[in-house]
Amino acid sequence: MITPPVAALAARLPAGRLPAYVHDLAALDGHAAAVRAALPRAVELYYAVKANPAAEILAALAPHVSGFEVSSGGELAHVRASVPGLPLAFGGPGKTEEELLLALDAGVRRFHVESERELRLLAALADGRPGGAPVDVLLRVNLPAAPGDPGGAALTMGGGPSPFGLDPRAAAACVPLLRGRLRLRGVHAHLASGLDAPSQLAVAAAVAGWAREFGDRHGLAVPEVCVGGGMAVDYTRPRSRFDWTAYGQGLAALAAEHPGVTFRVEPGRSLTAYCGWYVTEVVDLKHSHGEAFAVLRGGTHHLRTPVAKGHDQPFTVLPVDVWEHPWPRPAALDEPVTLTGQLCTPKDVLARRVPVAELRAGDRVAFAMAGAYAWNISHHAFLMHPAPEFHFLA
Ligand SMILES: *Cc1c(COP(=O)(O)O)cnc(C)c1O
Repeated sequence: MITPPVAALAARLPAGRLPAYVHDLAALDGHAAAVRAALPRAVELYYAVKANPAAEILAALAPHVSGFEVSSGGELAHVRASVPGLPLAFGGPGKTEEELLLALDAGVRRFHVESERELRLLAALADGRPGGAPVDVLLRVNLPAAPGDPGGAALTMGGGPSPFGLDPRAAAACVPLLRGRLRLRGVHAHLASGLDAPSQLAVAAAVAGWAREFGDRHGLAVPEVCVGGGMAVDYTRPRSRFDWTAYGQGLAALAAEHPGVTFRVEPGRSLTAYCGWYVTEVVDLKHSHGEAFAVLRGGTHHLRTPVAKGHDQPFTVLPVDVWEHPWPRPAALDEPVTLTGQLCTPKDVLARRVPVAELRAGDRVAFAMAGAYAWNISHHAFLMHPAPEFHFLA
């Protein structure tokens, strides 16, 4: 599960330089190449930057993606500076006037529009700017849940009442606004996270069907359909992967039913989750009312993922055989251990009651699947512990 270069660095770093985030960019390159190869050539692959915006990650993904999906002015400026020249799609709810202006001035020409207000504002700003290039709009619609879907989805972002996208009934009101510099490019939907390939394909078919009906009803061409991200990442089975081959074959069949339509996917988590590890050491190990607790350097202020998603973060124990203190080494043997951080809150738990053969104070632990929604979603300032180091292994 842990790659050899990551394990080697995790063993080599002095304890005082832990915790550390270690990324395996060669593994990321291989994974992204496999994802790209599994998708039909005509399907565009965008990376949803919010999953992990580190410049090194963006650069490693750049050869494999058609572009990047950004969801704020901050992401937009960062991606422009980190990987200049690649196409951007600007999504996200609550876009402000300043952000839309920034995007227009930065040459972004693909907007995922989330409301009628946003469309009116974008039209006014675009018409008031010099430079005649059309501004492409994809209407983000919050379609009803597709058949066979998303009961099991980990995070539902659409299908029911939601702040994301347009209610499909409100989309018709946008049609008269698509003039001047604005041009309808397509339809966008991102309805759920954590879907397997068959569920994702059901969502894609529903979105494409809706886009076709919408175009027919209003006499508009809808040449692009973005079916979002949310490809499943299973933290309880670190070795399993979303079935990109089945998904790619399904998308090819769907594209054949919709000639003239370019399909786009914008995964985040499923691209980068597997390339990152959070490496730390066991500071203390104790038994309390019959249960073993390992207290680690760092914690959920660096890696909030297990708390945010409600899982045990998968980990590997890296034994350290040196113990230089004259007192006995605290240890857990063949028993379940709860791995916590240094925060003074019972919520600072990375993994709960996980059986281990042996875990001792001074051993190291490498948490896997820490390459997406990890450092960047965490509450770094809480308790003022030092920040981790970041390593990107080529
Ligand atoms: C977060 C998000 C994504 C990526 O979702 P993952 O679950 O990380 O694949 C894609 N599109 C939109 C609009 C999003 O908000």
